[in-house]
Amino acid sequence: MGDEATLGELRGRVAEFVAAREWEGFHHPKDLALAMSVEASELLELFRWRGRQEIERLLPELRERIAEELADVFIFGLSLANAAAIDLSHAILSKMEENEERFPVEKFRGRAYEDSEDSPSERRVS
Ligand SMILES: [Mg+2]
Repeated sequence: MGDEATLGELRGRVAEFVAAREWEGFHHPKDLALAMSVEASELLELFRWRGRQEIERLLPELRERIAEELADVFIFGLSLANAAAIDLSHAILSKMEENEERFPVEKFRGRAYEDSEDSPSERRVS
């Protein structure tokens, strides 16, 4: 299964995995949110103490471990969506619409911050 799997297929696969093991009782939304955070920390651990250039150099050998931790984050995210009956496609699309309004292209192309006293314009993305 590659990137062509739909969100629904992935959710179904995670739901089957949980149901087959009768883990629904463990997969409370609170615990799934905590699990996502733990997995996100495991992802961060791969980058800890490393500079951007070192990470870019090490990326080929780190890629598989990054993929594993990223998958862990998303698997728990999918399980959280299942446990909380959240339409994840709708949630993502709604959030993207919100982001597109909040960060209009003409104002934010190549920059992560709006010019203001709190957001120095030198913090541009190159
Ligand atoms: Mg992990």
